[in-house]
Amino acid sequence: MSQETEHVQCLIIGSGPAGYTAAIYAARADLKPVLYTGIVPGGQLTQTTDVENFPGYPEGIMGPEMMEDFRKQAERFGTDIRFGYVTSVDFSGPPHTVVIDENKVITADTVIIATGATAKWLGLESEQKYNGFGVSACAVCDGFFFRNQDVAIVGAGDTAAEEATYLAKLCNKVHMIVRRDEFRASKAMVNRVLNTKNIEIHYESETQEILGNGQTVTGVLIKNKKTGVETTLDVTGFFVAIGHKPNTEIFKGWLDMDETGYLITKPGTPLTNVEGVFASGDVQDKHYRQAITAAGSGCMAALEAERYLAAKEDVVA
Ligand code: NDP
Repeated sequence: MSQETEHVQCLIIGSGPAGYTAAIYAARADLKPVLYTGIVPGGQLTQTTDVENFPGYPEGIMGPEMMEDFRKQAERFGTDIRFGYVTSVDFSGPPHTVVIDENKVITADTVIIATGATAKWLGLESEQKYNGFGVSACAVCDGFFFRNQDVAIVGAGDTAAEEATYLAKLCNKVHMIVRRDEFRASKAMVNRVLNTKNIEIHYESETQEILGNGQTVTGVLIKNKKTGVETTLDVTGFFVAIGHKPNTEIFKGWLDMDETGYLITKPGTPLTNVEGVFASGDVQDKHYRQAITAAGSGCMAALEAERYLAAKEDVVA
């Protein structure tokens, strides 16, 4: 296998709001960043439709278009944006080594990780078909589109509980589909759900199919696992809140992670346990998971990378 090595000051892995924002700041600080996009250039927002909660777009914007804007802004200041997937890392440096597509070797003084997280889906064909057209994995992002309507949400963890109560404020009725006879969420969150009048919980129920008219969602077919009874819920929105998987597989053994694989950073900073390696966006945030919070943490990562490099230069001088 031919191996070509290149050295960069600042390598950014990932092309969502965190990665591109880090790139904008790093490029403007003259760190000459190289950004690898991963296999979904633009990240999770390229798989959504309208984005109405990102400041600066008073009329809202389509997710893919917004990520194009992010990319153009990063490019405008000289970020070298490349399509490629990181297949392994060696963080025993600095410099740190990152291998792209199994053959290109890059050494980097600083690495900013912004590889994001992937929403888990039920795996139904109809779920994919109506994704962005009534099906969503983010209530905070898309709940507003279902104001005064009836919706359903699947999941029983803290996210599902939090999103169900969020939706209950906007929507007429929220059907909560729980696969066991109990929640996984914390007691406080469950109590909040139980005390919300317009949430109806369907315990021990499985989603069989998301129903639609070819354009948008019109209902959900659920089945009670105990009785076998099938019920159609008339809803226009279907929210999936069954967890996310942080994209951190390649960092195992190098970076500290929690039990579910999220990178652990020093509280309030993007600092990981490895010098010169910073983490930003959803890969280190299972709580907020918003484009704007990811962008903010990308900015923080670039500022820290700049400070780190400046401090190293001071030592050398
Ligand atoms: P979790 O993994 O905690 O919960 C996932 C839920 O989805 C579980 O109830 C699970 O059911 C259910 N589920 C999984 N697969 C399916 C499926 N195929 N069909 C139906 N249901 C399914 O994920 P969360 O996103 O809720 O939370 C992730 C982490 O973030 C947790 O540690 C949580 O505490 C934390 N968090 C904290 C918040 C807070 O404190 N405010 C807010 C949001 C998240 P089952 O229970 O049967 O396994």
